[in-house]
Amino acid sequence: MALIVHKYGGTSMGSPERIRCVAKRVAKWARTGHQMVVVPSAMSGETNRLLALAKELAPARATEAYHRELDMLAATGEQASSALLAIALQAEGLGSVSYAGWQLPIRTDSSYTKARIESIDDQRVRADLAHGKVVIVTGFQGIDDEGNITTLGRGGSDTSAVAVAAAMKAHECLIYTDVDGVYTTDPRVVPQARRLQTVSFEEMLEMASLGSKVLQIRSVEFAGKYRVRLRVLSSFTPWDMDIDEEARSGTLITFEEDEKMEQAVVSGIAFNRDEAKLSVLGVPDKPGIAYLILGAVADANIDVDMIIQNLSKDGKTDFSFTVHRNDYARAIDLIKEKVLPVLGAHEVVGDTNICKVSIVGIGMRSHVGVASKMFRVLSEESINIQMISTSEIKTSVVIDEKYMELAVRSLHQAFGLDQEAA
Ligand code: ASP
Ligand code: MG
Repeated sequence: MALIVHKYGGTSMGSPERIRCVAKRVAKWARTGHQMVVVPSAMSGETNRLLALAKELAPARATEAYHRELDMLAATGEQASSALLAIALQAEGLGSVSYAGWQLPIRTDSSYTKARIESIDDQRVRADLAHGKVVIVTGFQGIDDEGNITTLGRGGSDTSAVAVAAAMKAHECLIYTDVDGVYTTDPRVVPQARRLQTVSFEEMLEMASLGSKVLQIRSVEFAGKYRVRLRVLSSFTPWDMDIDEEARSGTLITFEEDEKMEQAVVSGIAFNRDEAKLSVLGVPDKPGIAYLILGAVADANIDVDMIIQNLSKDGKTDFSFTVHRNDYARAIDLIKEKVLPVLGAHEVVGDTNICKVSIVGIGMRSHVGVASKMFRVLSEESINIQMISTSEIKTSVVIDEKYMELAVRSLHQAFGLDQEAA
């Protein structure tokens, strides 16, 4: 008997029928003697629906007062689905009780719409578990020191579940979703993509940060920090499947690298179309330039991803970097108004039709030539590389967006990730 946390995503909770399936599955786990805590998302589409209502009444505003109300509003989605799940569990003959974030409480900071969890009081949960109840805890939400309701950012229920598992030292946190695990790449782009049985925590962190959207990145960070055993699996299997088989299904996020001895050097190919490139041309090549450009960008709260400074010619150089596409227009204006005049640089040019493609694998630490193989594969497809960045377990390139699928498919095959034909 162990303490287990289940998390169910929006599609898994998408209708009364789906909620009934979740209840039957949870009941199966509870009846084998496990102590069960369940963290559901809002029913699919509900958060979008609520936020769209707000937009209908007033265009998005950057004020704290507005964001406070967005959280007040969006948090209701999880409150509803949690109560519905408790009702469904009661109908299955189990004792069950649901709690909103503020009732435990789950304490967060006050950054509305992207709050961070600071602590979780699990007293009530423990007491209910001791009485044999299944406890439902709302995902996505918490409460700040002043008693305001906060939310954790889109996809934040993953983080709620991992945080609850960490706080309660659960045996495992199972994230039930509409895919059956973590894949070598997006199967919609490469049909030969394979499900990984295990993936290391560090690889998962890279893949999540690179845009593989299976888990909210903060949940992976949390799992790493508190060493939570985390598994991603499908909620669309028959609820009455064999529980041991279910417990082994999906993808386990591991901490022990040796578990992956047989694993390939590269575990996955990630891609991301959310970035845009800016190049400041004719920058004088002297100390303080990177600070001048990127300092201004950072002061405007714009995150920079890749950076490249070219070799100088006649004391002038070009300086390129990428930002999120949503920040692109703001970044261009900022450079034009604040940086060019001070720098005496010629101009700033931009490109939004770019894509970042990355290979990820902890095997890259111990193998040389992995990056150069990536460059060779791309050159064989005549794909021009605009920027490169590397870390210990990842190599990323920026290429023209129109070659994204070709690049991902070729790399997937070249690194031996294609599924063997059955
Ligand atoms: N309901 C929230 C969202 O749609 C949180 C979550 O589902 O994880 O982003
Ligand atoms: Mg999600």
